[in-house]
Amino acid sequence: MITLDKFYINGEWVSPDAPQDMPILTPSTNAQVGVVSLGNALDVDRAVAAAKAAFETFSLTSKDERLTLLRRLADVTRARLDDLGRAISMEMGAPATMARAVQAESGLGHLEAFIAALEAHDEEETLPNGDIVSYEPIGVCGLITPWNWPINQIALKVIPALATGATCVLKPSEHTPLSAQIYAEIIHEAGYPAGVFNLVFGEGPTVGAALSQHPDVAMMSFTGSTRAGSAVSRDAAATIKRVTLELGGKSPNIIFADADVDAMVAQGVAECFDNTGQSCNAPTRMLVERSAYARALEVARSVAEHQAVDDPALEGDHIGPLFDQIQYDRVQAMIQTGIDEGTRLLAGGLGRPDGLAQGLETGWFVRPTIFADVTPEMTLWREEVFGPVLVMAPFDTEEEAIALANDTDYGLDAYLSTGDEARALRVARRLRAGGIHINGRGSDYGSPFGGFKQSGNGREGGRFGLEDYLEVKVRPPFAV
Ligand code: NAD
Repeated sequence: MITLDKFYINGEWVSPDAPQDMPILTPSTNAQVGVVSLGNALDVDRAVAAAKAAFETFSLTSKDERLTLLRRLADVTRARLDDLGRAISMEMGAPATMARAVQAESGLGHLEAFIAALEAHDEEETLPNGDIVSYEPIGVCGLITPWNWPINQIALKVIPALATGATCVLKPSEHTPLSAQIYAEIIHEAGYPAGVFNLVFGEGPTVGAALSQHPDVAMMSFTGSTRAGSAVSRDAAATIKRVTLELGGKSPNIIFADADVDAMVAQGVAECFDNTGQSCNAPTRMLVERSAYARALEVARSVAEHQAVDDPALEGDHIGPLFDQIQYDRVQAMIQTGIDEGTRLLAGGLGRPDGLAQGLETGWFVRPTIFADVTPEMTLWREEVFGPVLVMAPFDTEEEAIALANDTDYGLDAYLSTGDEARALRVARRLRAGGIHINGRGSDYGSPFGGFKQSGNGREGGRFGLEDYLEVKVRPPFAV
């Protein structure tokens, strides 16, 4: 049994103000694997005070000093990737291969991209009018992350704070403390000065709200649900903080008949099911040109029926369980809603998949599910399911495809496939989303990630990710 009963504050592992324990459950069996202590507002005060004191000196470090620390952070991260992968798999159910090679690895991929961005970053520039602009770290940052891509989200927030000379307090999801604990150990071993990075475990309405409201916190960076993101914005309003938000999505995937339809449909279905559908930018609405729609349904059904669902402890390219009972019940309820609204069930459906290995009956496994002929007034068109549930619909014209794709409150990613480059650029220009995938290719580490509309604001990763953590100061050229 793993016990996480300390917070990392001011360079040390310290006991919480008032111990309050929560079990850590593993999604494949729902068995308890550990216990984590949750904090309160006093723990947040202590962590913010440490970060505020550390900002006095860390904010004045040179870019070279910070690059040296980041390179050391990369070395230590590399050495702990296996530990991170195992922790992620155990706490949120990603299969071993994916947890190590994609989830944990993202901590290194983003870090290398931030190092490259910082190397290229000019801390001062002279404007055409002769005035000089300098970019300076914003102050103490409150960082709140979700459970679905735990290290990816921590890296996208903690690293730009460290890179710019800001200091921070991280509140990871209370459900995924194992990987966050290892990340704090990595930062400690990399040799960051005391107080630059602090970790407090806790729940959103207590520790998260205390951070968002704290007068000494200059900026909140939040990733999670739209509901909690709007609570952070409200809590931060009284103290006029900068707030950046990465929220939910219902990303469209437009497939024109002149694309490699079989390959793009198969890839689209697999991307929707990846991470058991628990990715904010998953392509969950597949729109197919009518002349290719029948063929697309055939391919999609076959991919769903062959999608392996198995134990996350095993290596392989299967998908694992959903993360917890709340997710399981929610996904079942959404599938039931689809059925109740008369949507055509093409694959999957209610309940657990057949043929699960013995011992996994208590895990949160679901059937990869596809609904066909879904229309914009249906719940499954509009609401994020956060499970392996795809909806499909036909379209007749390019104009209709764009209108259907944009018919959502979200705007995180949008996917499109066509053999015609001019059409790809024309459609990409009109999609209201922060990231466009074309013919199965998305963007790389170092590119901005973030959304339009209710998918949030701000951009994470690379140069744009650094800019969110910087203040702008201007002065005239020196003259007497
Ligand atoms: P969640 O909003 O329940 O929790 C996210 C984090 O917010 C957790 O650390 C939680 O403790 C905290 N929190 C909850 N209520 C809070 C409050 N009132 N004040 C402050 N903090 C609070 O989301 P989740 O279930 O962990 O994650 C799933 C959601 O995250 C999905 O909607 C998904 O689309 C979204 N997501 C978005 C991105 C992105 O980059 N856009 C990435 C991953 C996940």
